[in-house]
Amino acid sequence: MIVGVIGAGAMGSGIAQCFAQCEDVEKVYLCDIKKEFADGGLGKIQKSLAKMVEKGKMEQAAADAIAAKFVTGLNEICVDADLIVEAALENMEIKKACFKELQDNIVKNENCIFASNTSSLSITEIGASLSKPIIGMHFFNPAPVMKLIEIISGLNTPKEDVAAITEISKKLGKTPVQVEEAAGFVVNRILIPMINEAIFVYESGTSDIAGIDAAMKLGANHPMGPLELGDFIGLDICLAVMDVIYSDTGDSKYRACPTLRKMVRGKRLGVKTGIGFYDYSEGIRNKVPTDRK
Ligand code: NAD
Repeated sequence: MIVGVIGAGAMGSGIAQCFAQCEDVEKVYLCDIKKEFADGGLGKIQKSLAKMVEKGKMEQAAADAIAAKFVTGLNEICVDADLIVEAALENMEIKKACFKELQDNIVKNENCIFASNTSSLSITEIGASLSKPIIGMHFFNPAPVMKLIEIISGLNTPKEDVAAITEISKKLGKTPVQVEEAAGFVVNRILIPMINEAIFVYESGTSDIAGIDAAMKLGANHPMGPLELGDFIGLDICLAVMDVIYSDTGDSKYRACPTLRKMVRGKRLGVKTGIGFYDYSEGIRNKVPTDRK
C-alpha cells in the first residue's frame, strides 16, 4: 500500500511514522506546502526512530528500512497513492481545497481512499463538493503512541471505505472505534470542553496553572493536567474545536474561554510555539508555568 500524508506538522509526521512502521505499507509520501516543512517532519520521525534504537526497542536495520520508505515533497507527489490521510490545518476551506486539488489534478489511482484527520469538522461538509467521498480517520497525539482511531462516516461515505479503514487501523496496531458524525466526535466533545473549563477556572483565579494541573492529576487520576494537555495538543486546535462545537450546537456552554482566544491571538499556542500556559524555553521536561515567572 502507498500512503500520502498531507501536512507534516505534529500530527502528520506522527501519522506518517505509524504507516511507515506497518509491514503492509511500501511507501509513504510526506507532504507539506513547502518541501522543507515536509523534510522537517521527516527529521522528527528520524529522531523518534533513533530514540527507539537507543532504548533497544528497535534494531538499527529496521529503523533504516522504515526511514527508507519516505518520499517528501509537495502534495503533487501523491500520484499513485492508495490512501490519502490529510492532516493539514483545522480549517474547512483549506481541507476542501486540498482534497479538490488531490482528487481532480493529482491522484491517478481510481481506488484511492481519501481520509481526513480532522479533530472536529464535518466529514459530510468536507466531502459535499468533491468528486470522491471522504472518511474521517482521527488519530490522537502522539500518533505513534496513542492506540485509538475514531472512524467517522459522513453522509456520503461508502460502507466499503469504513470497512477498509477499520482493517488498515488494525494493521497499524490501533483500536478503531466507529463514531457517527457529530461536532468533536466522542473524545474531543468531552476532552476539549474540559480543557476550556480548566481555562475558565484559571481565568476566575480559583487556582494557578500548576495548582489546576496538579489537582486534576492527583484528584481525577489524569496522566496530564488539562492546561499542560491543552499546550500539548495546541491551543489553536483547542480553540478551533470549541468554535466548531459551539457553532454546531448553538449551546452557550460550549463558548470558548476569552483567555484561550487571547492566547491564540498572541501566538501562545503551547509546545509548538514554545509558550502557552507553560514556558518551554528550557525544554518540555523543564517547563515553567507562565504565571510563576
Ligand atoms: P500543525 O500546525 O502542527 O501542522 C499542520 C501542517 O499542515 C503544517 O506543517 C502546515 O504547513 C501544513 N499545511 C497547511 N496547509 C497545507 C496544505 N494545503 N497542504 C499540505 N500541508 C499543509 O497541526 P497539527 O496539530 O498537526 O494538526 C493537523 C490536523 O490534525 C488538524 O486538522 C487537527 O485538528 C488534527 N488533529 C490534531 C491533533 C493534535 O493533538 N494536535 C490531534 C488529532 C487531530
